[in-house]
This record gives sequence, structure tokens and C-alpha cells, in this order.
Amino acid sequence: MQLSKHLSKEELEHSDIAVKNGIDNSLPDDLIPRAKILAEFLFEPIREALNTPIHINSGWRCDELNRLVGGVSTSQHARAEALDMVLADMPLLKALRLILQAGIIFDQLILEGMSDQNPHGTWIHASYATANRANNRNMILLCNDKKKYTQVTREQALNFIQGQGF
Ligand SMILES: [Zn+2]
Repeated sequence: MQLSKHLSKEELEHSDIAVKNGIDNSLPDDLIPRAKILAEFLFEPIREALNTPIHINSGWRCDELNRLVGGVSTSQHARAEALDMVLADMPLLKALRLILQAGIIFDQLILEGMSDQNPHGTWIHASYATANRANNRNMILLCNDKKKYTQVTREQALNFIQGQGF
């Protein structure tokens, strides 16, 4: 089932960890309207800004999966409001720059798993407040591989990305 033009319900549900552990990570029907808002108002603008296929590492997480991956119970993944994205054809720092420059509204945008060896990070977490879109905070965070989060302004993020040559 398509949630939007480029995102299917199956992509939002798929998790290698769920498969490996035999967890049924099906999205409950009552969350489909929320997932459609996430797809239409967050995923599609990002997809359009990047103009490249996006692989969802983790989208929706049922309680069992969320506990298994050590997610907090308030995780936006457990509300069908978040996507972890990886890209085969584009450096993540470039993707982050394009998302920021496109002026896309989001709740949190996090470059996760950064280290000195890997300034690009490992994936981009993007979330969207689907119940009340006025609640989207446009909060940008950089997260290192020790799970330390640093909040930055849009300008600081763009300066950092530029400093890395992207
Ligand atoms: Zn995430």
C-alpha cells in the first residue's frame, strides 16, 4: 500500500532487526492516517529536494521492536512520526544541506552516528509532528557515535557542512 507517491507502508514497517527476531512490525490501521501525513509532508519534500532514492532503515516501530533497539517509549518512531534514512547515491552531509536549503518543515532532523573518522554520520533521522503540524520545532541536532546530541542552528549546521566541503 502506498502512503504517498514514493513511500509505501511496507517500507515504513520494514526492519532488519524485526525480521531477524520474528517480530510482527505491522503498522496498526489507526496509525495509517498519521503515517500518510508523515509521508506526504516530510518524506515527499525530502525526496523531491534530494531527487535520489531514499532507503528507510527504520520507520514505524511497534513497542516490542522499540524496546529491542533501546528506543525510549516516547520515541517518534513508536508514533509513526519518524524515519531513519540512508542514501546509496549521495553523501549524507550533502543531503542534510539540501534538506535545510529547501526550507522543509520538520520536528527534528538529526545526523546520527558521527565521528572524527566519519563526519557524514551513519543515517539521518527526520521526524514530523503529525497530530498538530504547528508543533513542528525545526530542531537540528548532530549526534556522535557515543550518542551525544548537540543542537545547532540552521546557520551553524550549514557552516559545518560547508566546512566539510559539501
Ligand atoms: Zn530515528
